[in-house]
Amino acid sequence: MSNYSRIFLSSPHMSGNEQKYINEAFETNWIAPLGPNVDQFERELSDYVDVRDAAATSSGTAAIHLALQLLEVEQGDVVFCSSLTFIASANPIVYQGAEPVFIDSEPDTWNMSPLALERALLDAEYEGKLPKAVIVVNLYGQSAKMDEIMAICNRYSVPVIEDAAESLGAEYKGKKSGTFGKFGIYSFNGNKIITTSGGGMLVSNDEAALKKARFLATQARDPAPHYQHSVAGYNYRMSNILAGVGRAQLEVLNDRVAARRSIFNRYVEAFGNIEGINFMPELEGTLHNRWLTTLTIDREELGVSPMKLIDALAEENIEARPVWKPLHLQPLFEGKKYYMHEEGRSVSDKLFANGLCLPSGSNMTEEQQQRVIDKVLDVVHSNKVRIS
Ligand SMILES: *Cc1c(COP(=O)(O)O)cnc(C)c1O
Repeated sequence: MSNYSRIFLSSPHMSGNEQKYINEAFETNWIAPLGPNVDQFERELSDYVDVRDAAATSSGTAAIHLALQLLEVEQGDVVFCSSLTFIASANPIVYQGAEPVFIDSEPDTWNMSPLALERALLDAEYEGKLPKAVIVVNLYGQSAKMDEIMAICNRYSVPVIEDAAESLGAEYKGKKSGTFGKFGIYSFNGNKIITTSGGGMLVSNDEAALKKARFLATQARDPAPHYQHSVAGYNYRMSNILAGVGRAQLEVLNDRVAARRSIFNRYVEAFGNIEGINFMPELEGTLHNRWLTTLTIDREELGVSPMKLIDALAEENIEARPVWKPLHLQPLFEGKKYYMHEEGRSVSDKLFANGLCLPSGSNMTEEQQQRVIDKVLDVVHSNKVRIS
């Protein structure tokens, strides 16, 4: 094991202003899941992404769960979801007792394939059971092909929830990622592009729906002094202390996007000419926030598998990871329906088999990044030599 300090995939990067908002919360004794920081954070984030309203939640997962509630997803209903994503995208479908159907990726964005979505909706219509919602994920900071996806979903009148947990600050055709569907969600978990340690946000242009989201997120208390409840609610609001952290983080979001993009560019400079290494593309007309630099490896060409590279980096105390294991391959979802990009061609399986994520934190120093680059080059070169 190396003596060097550990290099993480993505670690929290404070701006220095967080303490100011935390202190305000303490001085005014707003130590609660409501208060001025929560109200301000909601307003500032909705201004930033340009939507009418935003509701701060205890996590991104909670925000997805609320969106499903608002769309009245119930036991036995069907919900479509991107397959190549983190489990949190789909867990709320399980909470509701609904049936997930997984949709493959396409190669241009690694996100939901419009072709697979179209086939899945055709089948669903034929069977007389359209999904109550489609959860579209914007993976690693790259927007999905939202024009195509929205056109298809609108044709079938199926609402879209955009899981933009990883794509805050990214853009699609000049509009912020997460603002195309009926609802969008963001996450402020510790590893995301900005963080409140834990937290999330539900956004929409439907202000009445978000009013209901706030009601559900605070135990669904009826307007009466004696604590009356007609429906089951949740305790899903964000703490006023953590919202203070979020306000300071939001102020530097554009800097964080720029930093992650420049880290990506340095990796491209170092590996871009190596045959057998391909970076996740940036779709034309979009701005990728490069939350994580991800790439695929052609192991024939390179003589190295992603896991071998990950293990070699781990020996130097550097954290690298495979890309998300597709949900249709998870034991939890065994036997669930899955629609491939094309018949007999699963794009997400291939990305999972060949993909890897490199350390991409905005607080990574150039020296630390050089350590990652040197190690990767070292492994690649020594294996090439061995083959020839
Ligand atoms: C992080 C993440 C979430 C969940 O967010 P939490 O705030 O951790 O609940 C959902 N979807 C994706 C794609 C994520 O990466």
